[in-house]
Amino acid sequence: MKTITLGKSGDQPFKINGIGVSKVHATVTIDDYGRWILADCNSTNGTFVRNETTGELMRVGPQGMQISEMSFIVLGADNSAGCCFYAKQLTNPGDYVDEHLYMRNKKLEFDQEEENVTKRAKWVRLSIFIVMLVFTIGTVFWQLADPKSTGMMFHVYRGLSLLTMGATTFYDAQGKRSKIIKKRKLFSQCPNPECDRKLSSDEIENLKCGRCQK
Ligand SMILES: [Zn+2]
Repeated sequence: MKTITLGKSGDQPFKINGIGVSKVHATVTIDDYGRWILADCNSTNGTFVRNETTGELMRVGPQGMQISEMSFIVLGADNSAGCCFYAKQLTNPGDYVDEHLYMRNKKLEFDQEEENVTKRAKWVRLSIFIVMLVFTIGTVFWQLADPKSTGMMFHVYRGLSLLTMGATTFYDAQGKRSKIIKKRKLFSQCPNPECDRKLSSDEIENLKCGRCQK
């Protein structure tokens, strides 16, 4: 078993300077079974770990939480203003290869998600267009057959515009896209704990931060 103390006077292998970080902030214990447990040491501003699906930060209490080597830890703030690093840096400092590959995989996953949303939105629009077209042609023939039917047609058109509104409301492509963009940002922090930059898409693709070159 091995315990690493995190904080301004902790024994982690990198410097922690964040203003919100306590002297003794949290601990990571790696037990004899290889399980990693992160626990808060009653720090002033809290210890957080990123949810690897949603990207949101979850608070970790003194009772501790099981994490993995690739868990993203944030000390001192529930956003990127805190001290951010991957747990792996505690045992393998200085080598950021796995973190960069992990970030690139996440980015590809979100890019794919965005592409699917765009494709589905296109299908929704096309389906609405076809339904409207069929009804328009239908009502033309209907009016030709029965010239007194204009009042009825008004109701049909109103129904159709409701259908269009309904389809675009239920399939909110713009909303889905902005959620994906937000998620992509949450997975773009430079893996170097001493660099607090958000990486650009190009940097993530190229597996390197332009500022710290790590
Ligand atoms: Zn950097």
